[in-house]
Amino acid sequence: MAFIVTDNCIRCKYTDCVEVCPVDCFYEGPNFLAINPDECIDCALCEPECPAGAIFSEDELPEGQEVFVELNQELSLIWPNITEQKDALPDAAQWDGVEDKLEYLER
Ligand code: SF4
Ligand code: SF4
Repeated sequence: MAFIVTDNCIRCKYTDCVEVCPVDCFYEGPNFLAINPDECIDCALCEPECPAGAIFSEDELPEGQEVFVELNQELSLIWPNITEQKDALPDAAQWDGVEDKLEYLER
């Protein structure tokens, strides 16, 4: 069971998560991060680090977030690896907590 980045990461991208991942399995898109499920070792270190509460174990996914299982897999294969924290998007705080941001996901 891998860990999954879900809806609330969209347009936030705080990137605190990448600093703690021991296997560097985060991949960066324009306004979202994805975890490669084949590289994730389920250590759970990233989950409490995310200020947006956007990371969940696949077997504890909140209702409605199932679509992100496939999205993490798909996008982690086409986006570049990210291993160091960087500044969040300028309007991250404004979007934190807004529901159903999938329509804003940029590839
Ligand atoms: S810390 Fe959370 S919101 Fe920020 S990039 Fe990682 S998963 Fe996304
Ligand atoms: S659970 Fe561990 S290995 Fe998986 S993405 Fe999070 S920090 Fe990385």
